[in-house]
Formats: sequence, C-alpha cells, structure tokens
Amino acid sequence: MLERIRIVLVGTSHPGNIGGTARAMHNMGLADLALVAPRCEPITAETVSRASGADRLVHQAPTFASLEDAVSECTLVVGASARSRTLPWPMTTPRQLGERLPAELAGEESRVALVFGREDSGLTNAEMQRCHAHVHIPTNPDFSSLNLAAAIQVVAYECRLACMEAPEAGDEAAPEPLASHQELEHYFDHLERTLIDIGFHDPAQPRQLMARLRRFTLRARPERMEMNILRGILTATQRQAASSDRQDSSDTPDAGS
Ligand code: SAH
Repeated sequence: MLERIRIVLVGTSHPGNIGGTARAMHNMGLADLALVAPRCEPITAETVSRASGADRLVHQAPTFASLEDAVSECTLVVGASARSRTLPWPMTTPRQLGERLPAELAGEESRVALVFGREDSGLTNAEMQRCHAHVHIPTNPDFSSLNLAAAIQVVAYECRLACMEAPEAGDEAAPEPLASHQELEHYFDHLERTLIDIGFHDPAQPRQLMARLRRFTLRARPERMEMNILRGILTATQRQAASSDRQDSSDTPDAGS
C-alpha cells in the first residue's frame, strides 16, 4: 500500500529539506517523491548529507511544473497545512488520514498524494482547493508550523502505522474506480465553461462559486463513471444553449439583413 502513496513537495527552497524528506520517507517505507517547481537546486551536498543514505529517492524523483501535473493520476489528494483557510475545507489529522488509507488504497488503480508547501508561505489557496482534504498536525496554536521534513515524518509515520495494522485484503469485490485528479480537473474546466455559456457564472465576479463547487464535488468522491455522466450532461447543456442562441438570433427581425 505504501508504494501507492506519493509525497509531493511544492516550491521547496532548501536542499536540506529535500534530503530530510527523503530520509523521513525511506525510514517509513515510502519511496515515491515528486517535486513541483523547486526553488533550489534539488541535489546538493546538503541534500545528500541530510538524506543520510536515502538520496536515491531524490535522484529518482520526477520534477513537474505544476501541482496538477504531479498528482494527475491520484484518486485522493491531501494538502498539508499549518494554518486554517478562509473557505474551510474537510480537515483531518494524520491519524485519521492513516485510518482512511486501507480503504482509499483498496482499488488497484487508487493512488494517494500527500502535498506539502513552501517553507516560507506554505501552499496557496488555489493549490489547497485542488485537494480533497487538508491534513493538519495538531501543534501548539501559538507556534504551529513544523519544519517541512519534520511534518512529513509525522504524516509518513501515521501512514506506515495504519498500513501495518490494516487487515489483509479479503476477496471482497474491488471498488469502482474513482475519478483521478486529472479527470476531476477536466470536469471543473468543463463545468466552468458551461456555467459561463448559460450565463450562470461571471468570471469577473467569481464570488468563490468555483471553489464552493469544487469543495462540494470533491467531498462526494465521484467514481469515474459518475464523472462521465456529469460530463455528458454538460455537453448536452452546452449544445442546447448554443441551439437556443441560434434560435434567438434567427428570431430577431433584422437577422441576416
Ligand atoms: N509558514 C508556512 C508554513 C510552512 S511549513 C505557512 O504559514 O503556511 C512548510 C510545509 O510543512 C507546510 O506548507 C505544510 O505542508 C507542512 N507543515 C508544517 N507545519 C504543519 C502542520 N502543523 N500541519 C500540517 N502541515 C504542516
């Protein structure tokens, strides 16, 4: 199960933290590290020294330009944050997250991404809104921010513990595949375009509409098949809106003149 958990570092600026992350991951049996737009040279003498023998993970780590690219195949994306956000999102502790993992990873195609932010500013609201849930390590509220590699150590430990304690998978039927992050993002793009086409959404006055629809949809954990149905409904809505636009313009008296 641990093989299907990806640790994603966004905009890391200290090579020592990348090395420290590799060590924390390897200690806990995690191996899949991905870097998003690092703000430092990822492999330096400090990386290797802090990795203490786990630098192979950094050498193997793919680098992506955006968070979406790094998590495109993941069916559960969880963002780690030291502070609360203006639009509250489903919150979990590392322990609750660990407890969810055996069920989350039951399907063969399931992949989990745990996303960690920049040392100075964390993850942006837009990045956090791309996640199904947020994980917060309950720290001293007056001093809540852990060192990046230390935060990963805590979360990775709970993942390991929960996976070790999980009962062996029985022969229950495999769950329906969930929509991947990429399928969800295509849906959100399509939804936004359709809402603009039918005059429901004005991007100049967004009023958190898309963020709220994101939160609602991500909370529902749609299966791939359900996402396909919703995409079909959007396509039919757009077709209908376009044909009624054509109808309206041919009804106007000076049309075609
Ligand atoms: N100053 C930043 C914190 C950066 S710490 C801020 O205010 O957001 C770097 C990263 O470590 C964070 O983006 C988060 O992913 C993780 N992290 C640090 N402390 C955490 C905590 N208490 N709970 C969950 N994640 C934490």
